[in-house]
Amino acid sequence: MDLHWIDAIETDEERSAVDAILGSWDRANVPGSSLEEHVAREGRELSEGKRHLLLPVLHGVQGSIGWISKGALNYICRRLLLPPAEAYGVASFYAMLSTEPRPKRVAHVCDDIACKLQGTDALCKELQSSLDPDVWHRSPCLGQCERGPAVLFQLAGEDDWVLTDATAKDVADALQGETRKNTPPATLCRTRGPLLARVGVADPENLDDYREHEGYQSLRLAIALGPEGVLREVKESGLRGRGGAAFPMGIKWEAVAKAPVGPHYVICNADESEPGTFKDRILMEEDPFAVVEAMTIAGFATGSEKGFIYVRGEYPLAAMRLQKAIDIATKRGFLGVDVMGNGFRFEIEIRKGAGAYICGEETALFNSIEGFRGEPRNKPPFPTQEGLFAKPTVVNNVETLVNVLPIIRASGLAFAAAGTKDSTGSKLFCLSGHVAKPGLYEVPLGTTLAELLEKAGGVAGGRELQTILLGGAAGSFVSPDELKVALTFEDTRAIGASLGSGVVMVFDDRVDMRRILQRIAQFFRDESCGQCVPCRVGTVRVEESIQRLARNGNSKRDAELIDELARVMRDASICGLGQTAVGAIQSALERNLLRNGDEKS
Ligand code: SF4
Repeated sequence: MDLHWIDAIETDEERSAVDAILGSWDRANVPGSSLEEHVAREGRELSEGKRHLLLPVLHGVQGSIGWISKGALNYICRRLLLPPAEAYGVASFYAMLSTEPRPKRVAHVCDDIACKLQGTDALCKELQSSLDPDVWHRSPCLGQCERGPAVLFQLAGEDDWVLTDATAKDVADALQGETRKNTPPATLCRTRGPLLARVGVADPENLDDYREHEGYQSLRLAIALGPEGVLREVKESGLRGRGGAAFPMGIKWEAVAKAPVGPHYVICNADESEPGTFKDRILMEEDPFAVVEAMTIAGFATGSEKGFIYVRGEYPLAAMRLQKAIDIATKRGFLGVDVMGNGFRFEIEIRKGAGAYICGEETALFNSIEGFRGEPRNKPPFPTQEGLFAKPTVVNNVETLVNVLPIIRASGLAFAAAGTKDSTGSKLFCLSGHVAKPGLYEVPLGTTLAELLEKAGGVAGGRELQTILLGGAAGSFVSPDELKVALTFEDTRAIGASLGSGVVMVFDDRVDMRRILQRIAQFFRDESCGQCVPCRVGTVRVEESIQRLARNGNSKRDAELIDELARVMRDASICGLGQTAVGAIQSALERNLLRNGDEKS
């Protein structure tokens, strides 16, 4: 297929930004490379194998220039042999990429539910009256829920960074180039088990320190066990995925290990974007070598030579520390062509997301890495059969992967001794909102919600508890009389809730839940990729119904409409976003939380 370019020409600065990622360009013998030539004959066929570079190169231009012009996009398309309309479709899909001119320094202010409980609405009001509207935007959850309000700064020509506990003055100062130190996340790790043991103890940028704290013992043991032995231990551990789906990890790994076609891939899903979730960020920022070691064991057990970490774009510190860990591990022989001198090869590459919640869905994540819009695919085929680049792929989130280290160190059966029969091991819970001691808690599965709340000091200021959001925006609200529920996959399911990604967000009796439900409905409407009708239209209709309910009080008609929409979306949406988008709202209506809002108004 011939490719047709547009007239726009890149600037020298844009060309340098693209060349920094793709290497300098020898135009000789490249179809469509001269400025006069607007057609690449059979260019589409020649593009094979290059498209996966699209998102990294878009990031490169965005990071250097501050936005992606038509000229820059045209140059990228000529380099990668892509139709400009398709590249534009990808660039315009992501919230952190701008296809319109933008100032060089921009603040993204989180106005999601956890930051709302920490005063972000007042912060936004101040910013509205003090700053140019072009230099700041409201943002969905930035994953800093234990220390909000949070602000992400995108700075052309400099590294992005995140400010926490932000005030309007901090934001203004940071936009002028002044920075301020954040609360170290390690200090907010409240109760520890095997997963958090190194956080705040070992230097996250020092491999020797990592090794002094049991680092790389598990990989050494895994090599001694062999791939079959590792798979046996993981299956015996009973470990289930910690990202929300709770799929048994051993079954996934075995399916990829046995898949007859190759190559196989390992993906660490670090696109942690569920509002209220910040556990994976802390693991990546404070214990990055653990992520690298766990992925290497996954590669060894599943016969994969290549791994990708897909880290959300809003986590610049995590991406930086992971890259550093990969570089050091490669230099010291813990990654590369001959891992620890044992003759197996494993390499890891980081891919940065660019502000799209849906890319946490595994098939959307494949599309994003491959250079397409991050839209989910129909399943089957499942990723273990046809995943990244249509090859067998194991996808695990960060917390799930890191669990492999204690499993191999202590044995699968020892791991399974903690927790309950169907929910083994410990779990990270992200406590935020009106709780006395917000932060990250590692407790054995089976701990009750009441016990966890007690560990966190109860409701802040001794106020009365109104409700807890369990599992994230795609989870459920639970009432004070449901606190005795054991935090296991099976017990939460029995009360119509789920552990989800480990969110425990506490709301005291003063919160007007109408604004919380409106923000949740807005979140899903914004984040729906729009690919399938039930979700694209359903999320809009749900938001409208919630707005009407918030305005007019409890209306039976709107409550019934929400139930009906929820049924259709659950049955007919392609992916989990549409299937679960209404769950938290329904649970709030069932528990009369909206009526509580009426009474407060
Ligand atoms: Fe996209 Fe929503 Fe359909 Fe998922 S359910 S594919 S997010 S439109």
